[in-house]
Amino acid sequence: MNRTSFFAAIVLIFGGFTLANAEEKDVEHLNSHWGYAGATGPENWGSLSPKYSTCSQGANQSPINLKNFTEANLPPIEFIYNSQATEILNNGHTVQVNFPPSTAAIRVDDTTFELKQVHFHAPAENQIDSRFFDMEAHFVHADASGNLAVVALMMQNGESNIALEGLWGELPAKADGPHSLSTRFFAQQMLPVEKDYYRFSGSLTTPPCTEGVRWLVLKQPVPVSAQQVKAFTALVGGHGNNRPVQPINARTVLR
Ligand SMILES: [Zn+2]
Repeated sequence: MNRTSFFAAIVLIFGGFTLANAEEKDVEHLNSHWGYAGATGPENWGSLSPKYSTCSQGANQSPINLKNFTEANLPPIEFIYNSQATEILNNGHTVQVNFPPSTAAIRVDDTTFELKQVHFHAPAENQIDSRFFDMEAHFVHADASGNLAVVALMMQNGESNIALEGLWGELPAKADGPHSLSTRFFAQQMLPVEKDYYRFSGSLTTPPCTEGVRWLVLKQPVPVSAQQVKAFTALVGGHGNNRPVQPINARTVLR
């Protein structure tokens, strides 16, 4: 190696490091220092920040293995899902699509909960009677006072999920801000025909693990292909983005 190429190699190596470090920092910043593995993994979320203490102290945490069922004759969820998502976002923890304000909602408990976003976990977070699923979609809604209602949709390996095909063509490779979505994605298209559901009280499944969330878990799973799961998992670090199931404690699950 001559002198010039030696220096060129040094510049290349250090230049490479600097770029890699800057990218890592950006991602870390977006992640707010929590993740799904190692020192910042779910077992340690509660001690990473005082803001996250509910993750370890809470008694009504999500996800759970749904059991202890109580027969409840639950009224149907009224889905008013007419609008399409306008943005897609890889936040380093998941891929999320955002809906414009006041365009889609559900009605539960005589209250309107506006659809804010849909995001994904692979493998699924909740289990039903100890059954595992390959992926889970969370439809996150809030009422006018900020109370949350999450509709959870289980996805199991099988055929390609047609509703996801357009979205998956626009998955942002890197964690950064929202991109406008060119494909037409309606939340309605993802829902199963049968909309019976389980209901329990739980929390956000990510820090700060805030409780008081109405969880509405649809009983009927929809298919997702192994390739779709793989493409998603590759974007969120190559490992699962699912919090392990939490103690059910005194809760019952209505069905
Ligand atoms: Zn979620």
